[in-house]
Amino acid sequence: MLNGLKEAPNCVTIRPIGPVEEYILEYLSEFIAERCNIKCLIDSEIEIPEFVYNKTRDQYNSKLIIKHLIENHPVDTNKFIGVTNIDLFIPILKYVFGIAQIEGNYSIISTHRLYPEFYDKPSNPGLFIERTKKTALHEIGHTFGLTHCRDLECVMHSSARIKDTDIKSSFFCPTCSDLFKWYSHEKYKQAGQIN
Ligand SMILES: [Zn+2]
Ligand SMILES: [Zn+2]
Repeated sequence: MLNGLKEAPNCVTIRPIGPVEEYILEYLSEFIAERCNIKCLIDSEIEIPEFVYNKTRDQYNSKLIIKHLIENHPVDTNKFIGVTNIDLFIPILKYVFGIAQIEGNYSIISTHRLYPEFYDKPSNPGLFIERTKKTALHEIGHTFGLTHCRDLECVMHSSARIKDTDIKSSFFCPTCSDLFKWYSHEKYKQAGQIN
């Protein structure tokens, strides 16, 4: 190992947390592989641990889920994204669409608030999948080291409301795209880690 750097991640693993429809995982896997230029696998379902449920809020604590994943499902240098249908929160916010460790390995997204029906709108599978892809790429971007971007159309723009997700595209802006390439591949090359 040179310069104390870890090996380059060579894979993103998607894991359903609780039941998630297969087609969602397949769409995501194909999308992530193409957009991140990295292999993407779908692994088996992980049960939702009881202790992450908050009865008062009738929601699930996303930070506790990440902690649970780290303790029970260790990964090496590769990236791991949990996909779930349960409603996630962090204590300071009413809800989150997803969370990630910045430059870590773990992230999680929830489809719960991505369905148009959640906002009393008619079902729209195309819109739902677009939202899911954007949310997943955003969180994966964080695990590779990207932070929030001011460009409203960049996938790394933060989403406080679903409107923000609909305004942004499913692409990195040119700056985030360059940064992503650097974080995911170039920095390891330059350190002599991969060719
Ligand atoms: Zn974010
Ligand atoms: Zn950007």
